Amino acid sequence: MKVRTLTRRLFASLFVLIAALAITPTAAQAAETTTIYRLYNSSTGEHHYTHDANEYATLGRIGWVQEGCAWIAPTQSQSPVYRLYNPNSGDHHYTMDANERDALVRIGWTYENIGWYSDEAKTVKVYRLFNPNEVIGTHHYTTSLNEYNTLGNIGWRKEDVAWYAVQLPPTTPSNGSQSQGGSGASAPFQPSTPQECVVYWTPGGTKWHSTKDCPALGRSHTILSGTVQQAQAAGKDAPCKDCH
Ligand SMILES: [Zn+2]
Repeated sequence: MKVRTLTRRLFASLFVLIAALAITPTAAQAAETTTIYRLYNSSTGEHHYTHDANEYATLGRIGWVQEGCAWIAPTQSQSPVYRLYNPNSGDHHYTMDANERDALVRIGWTYENIGWYSDEAKTVKVYRLFNPNEVIGTHHYTTSLNEYNTLGNIGWRKEDVAWYAVQLPPTTPSNGSQSQGGSGASAPFQPSTPQECVVYWTPGGTKWHSTKDCPALGRSHTILSGTVQQAQAAGKDAPCKDCH
């Protein structure tokens, strides 16, 4: 009897919680997010970006270098980033500018729909760089101000902010990197991507998951976490279909 009352009470408070979440759309952190993966083609020098974990896995199998998570994007927003493809060079281009999109289509580019969305909270900048010396893979995107400046110093043209990524609340970092404050040692800006790009897996599983809350992980006692590369090194060579 007592247990039943407790259970009922638990369900009641759970219901209140869910209702509260439902009527609080401004809770930005509750917004759904998706991981944008980055790949590198060493024969063309092109970087490729995709939210499609299966495309990421497939390209990795045919020789692209999987560079892990590039940034976290909202699954939906009022600010789409358009993806275009140049059938002559095989190059992809991404832009939030509808005029640029249309101009590229007029000169032969294929519009490949919305690639991902920009975050309206505008907390994490994704920088765009242009390499004037390359024909293919001329644009590069990064959340790292350090990488942005480094490439700028070796001849890339800095093109400022392309769009915005989502800032997730930090998950428990595996090795506490709390070296804030102290003397004015000018440590380069570190993007918060490592913590945001964590994936999850279990010792016995065959897949890796983008969220700890994936229903497929619900029965697991041991949930390991790390980068996509670490997951793959542990033998999890494909993303979970439920949470990707
Ligand atoms: Zn999953």
